[in-house]
Amino acid sequence: MNVYFDNAATTAMNQAALDAMIPALSETYANASSLHTAGQLSKEKLEQARADIAECLGAQPGEILFTSGGSEADNQAIISAAKWGAKRDKRHIVSTAFEHHAVLHTLQKLEKEGYEVTYLDVHEEGMVCPEEVEAAIRPDTCLVTVMYANNEIGSIQPIAEIGAVCKEKNVFFHTDAVQAVGHLAIDVKAQNIDMLSLSAHKFHGPKGVGCLYARRGVILSNIIEGGAQERGKRAGTENIPAIIGMAAALKDVLSRREENAAKVSAMRDRLIEGLAQIPHSKLNGHPTKRLPGNVNFCFEGVEGESLLLLLDMKGIEASSGSACTSGSLDPSHVLLAIGLPHEIAHGSLRLTLSEYNTMEEVEYVIRELPGIIEYLRNMSPVWESLEKGETKHVI
Ligand SMILES: *Cc1c(COP(=O)(O)O)cnc(C)c1O
Repeated sequence: MNVYFDNAATTAMNQAALDAMIPALSETYANASSLHTAGQLSKEKLEQARADIAECLGAQPGEILFTSGGSEADNQAIISAAKWGAKRDKRHIVSTAFEHHAVLHTLQKLEKEGYEVTYLDVHEEGMVCPEEVEAAIRPDTCLVTVMYANNEIGSIQPIAEIGAVCKEKNVFFHTDAVQAVGHLAIDVKAQNIDMLSLSAHKFHGPKGVGCLYARRGVILSNIIEGGAQERGKRAGTENIPAIIGMAAALKDVLSRREENAAKVSAMRDRLIEGLAQIPHSKLNGHPTKRLPGNVNFCFEGVEGESLLLLLDMKGIEASSGSACTSGSLDPSHVLLAIGLPHEIAHGSLRLTLSEYNTMEEVEYVIRELPGIIEYLRNMSPVWESLEKGETKHVI
């Protein structure tokens, strides 16, 4: 059996995206900036996709700026607010300890340039407190950036409440909603979101395309200079087939959003129930306020990488921490942020589901995993000393 449980890393394209993109790849090749008929047809398709995406978010078309994906949108949102702030002597930013690296590394770069960043605690269940956001805002705060839902542990943040605090305090609010868009209900106006990042490949669209929603009145700075595309705020010939595919994918997933959420969260809950039977295991993240498809467990005495290799041999494709940290030997910054000790933070397993998974696949993983864990523990010196009572169990 082949089981793809790595949908937080990326998703397969849905049929709607493929059906929209395949003809666009061969036919809609003209440059949207060209004045001839073919160019104007490309322009029309581009603007239709913009209007469709705006509608999905409760935004206006003019508030949608196409980018190369979630990372670029995060970079542009944060850099724009920082530059705006610098002109007004506001060089303080409020964020959290468990943001995606596209946000964290951008903030670290700004810190080197003299900005100050407050990283809010996300507590044991991976939740940000709106009261703590409020308390962290200072007269020199130019931006609050808090992710909508975490990519590793799936916890969903009280975005509307944080948005209300920022509005009240007159501070820009950006949210990295890459894991949320397509899966959760979003209305940027009702939730007081000033800027929002999304990425098509996390909701069954193509890779290498995303967008930044920036409310009217937010002054954006370019991070890519060149031509006058995207109202002069993002140079580069638009990837129209990918943009068309992104709009089609989003409309498609949202047309069944509640139905999908119910189906996927039922699979998630069954998987959590099954894996919780394994001794010395722990579910990471919030028990209920979590993405429909997210399961994240730690197994004491088990090292994440070896677990992934053995799962792969059984046809199960999963992840330890996030795709971006695997490949490095550092423990996950997200698991450290929720207070897990280093030795546990190394041994996490992330299983992320989509509407294309089945309950049979969930049952297969529940059947296979305990044996793999036992096999790894039997070989582990760490486990041996835990069993002998030389070291104490943490979970
Ligand atoms: C995947 C992801 C990103 C990066 O998006 P790309 O389109 O791959 O650049 C940013 N933030 C979060 C939360 C993500 O899950």
